[in-house]
Amino acid sequence: MLPVLLKLKLATTAAAGLAAAASPVPMPAEVLALTVVERATAPVEVRLFDENLQINATVGIRRDGTMDEATAAEVKHLFRCRQTNRERPIARRTLAMLADLAEKYEPRPIEFVSVYRVQHGESPTSPHRDARAIDFRIRGVSLVQIRDYLWRTYSEVGVGWYPSEQFIHMDSRPTLHDTAWTFLAGANHYHPYWAEVARRPASEAAPVAQRHRTGV
Ligand SMILES: [Zn+2]
Repeated sequence: MLPVLLKLKLATTAAAGLAAAASPVPMPAEVLALTVVERATAPVEVRLFDENLQINATVGIRRDGTMDEATAAEVKHLFRCRQTNRERPIARRTLAMLADLAEKYEPRPIEFVSVYRVQHGESPTSPHRDARAIDFRIRGVSLVQIRDYLWRTYSEVGVGWYPSEQFIHMDSRPTLHDTAWTFLAGANHYHPYWAEVARRPASEAAPVAQRHRTGV
């Protein structure tokens, strides 16, 4: 994933700078490499707030969405189906996106509304039923900002914007088409304009916006 590669590159640059500045003796290449790998694989501190139970939890999730066994059990429990109390591990790619958001907006807590849902009435094709989806918001960050970041940064995803309910739905959907929607007045509206804008190359943004303004 691009963000991880970018971070690795930044970490390399930072570590090299640090070694040059702080140490009179050049840091051996192996030590430097180890430092970089350690930084890239160290878990991200993910601060969570359970909106339903109004409790805080902090868990360490690696950027690739993996974690140690104890954390995996804790995460599975936190994200359990609230109707049935059933637990299931959440998809690794979804957790990787969660770790990315936690790091990007650190130290703001991620307020989760709903994750695994397996109760009667939940659609058989729901990504929540398949433990791939999270409904959430981040305190102090606009939904629009989170929505556009996710849609611009990731592929094989579903991103839903729920402005009335005040949350973002995100899911990973390998092998399925990217899907963006806005939920308004009780219905999903697919192919929203914001999704088109968020993925438009920066160089095209201005002229198209002008055309749009004068055209209507
Ligand atoms: Zn959802």
